[in-house]
Amino acid sequence: MTTALVIDGKAFAAGLRDRIAAAVPAFMEVMGRAPGLAVVLVGDDPASAVYVGSKGKATIAAGMESFEYRLPGNCTQAEVEALLQKLNADDKVDGILLQLPLPSHLDEQSAVGAINPDKDVDGLTPISAGRLALGIEGLVPCTPLGSLMLLQEQLGDLSGLEAVVIGRSILVGKPMAQLLLGANCTVTLAHSRTKDLPDIVRRADIVVAAVGRAEMVKGDWLKPGAVVIDVGINRLAPAEEGAKGRLVGDVDYGSAQAHVRAITPVPGGVGPMTIACLLRNTLVAAHRRAGLSDPEGI
Ligand code: NDP
Repeated sequence: MTTALVIDGKAFAAGLRDRIAAAVPAFMEVMGRAPGLAVVLVGDDPASAVYVGSKGKATIAAGMESFEYRLPGNCTQAEVEALLQKLNADDKVDGILLQLPLPSHLDEQSAVGAINPDKDVDGLTPISAGRLALGIEGLVPCTPLGSLMLLQEQLGDLSGLEAVVIGRSILVGKPMAQLLLGANCTVTLAHSRTKDLPDIVRRADIVVAAVGRAEMVKGDWLKPGAVVIDVGINRLAPAEEGAKGRLVGDVDYGSAQAHVRAITPVPGGVGPMTIACLLRNTLVAAHRRAGLSDPEGI
């Protein structure tokens, strides 16, 4: 029995963050300022506050400028969109991230749509999605972008490979399928209504699981030698009261290992790539807005 290679997303993300930090001084020399990322948090959801805090820290650690804006949970749609318009017009801000989810009385789609697509470092505006679909240069959602980087690092050229993406969310599944198509894979996009999912997955050289169901994909669904990217983050019920449940992915890691060539662990696989790609998108947005060519190797 062979054991799969563990794709170390944490190490890859650390390398990417180092390359980003190394590219910042050259931008500063030309522009007289660091690239800037503005993060907007509406309300006081504790998990969102933690994400915003770690994004800010990572931005500063890369030598970029971090701007944090907090709006109260009862603010109006007009207030959120007015802030986004202000950030669109602010020359020091290269990237804008609106932390989701918004409180339920706000219209997320309309708020996201207010972000200037050239500063849309989350890649979620309709124009960013359209650019990705049309193959036009733009900003791509961070989690699928990070997943693609890990696949290319493992496999090099992905041309002609069969890829199955499980999950069709706007945040992960759909852009992932577009990116793989752009890399010349033959792509199947599966979802909750897909019939015979195990048989479809068995065809795949590349499997990307973005479902949100703990350990759903079993080892015997996987083609021998496949490369698996497990995007899912699921917390299992704790074994005892007061304890924290274990984090697992959408793939049954134990049974998958015997079948596949390489697999991302959870945690430590795709997760660390998401923030690293947010920094990457901010740096790239800063260069494009300034009319500079994209930094190399990032
Ligand atoms: P969503 O809930 O938005 O989408 C889940 C998708 O899975 C839907 O398209 C749904 O299909 C599909 N699905 C649900 N059940 C099944 C099933 N039984 N068989 C096949 N497909 C199914 O989730 P996200 O895309 O936002 O996130 C997916 C997972 O990735 C979550 O665990 C999330 O925590 C994690 N995640 C991790 C990130 C990271 O940084 N590592 C970042 C973002 C997400 P349908 O459309 O038909 O309902």
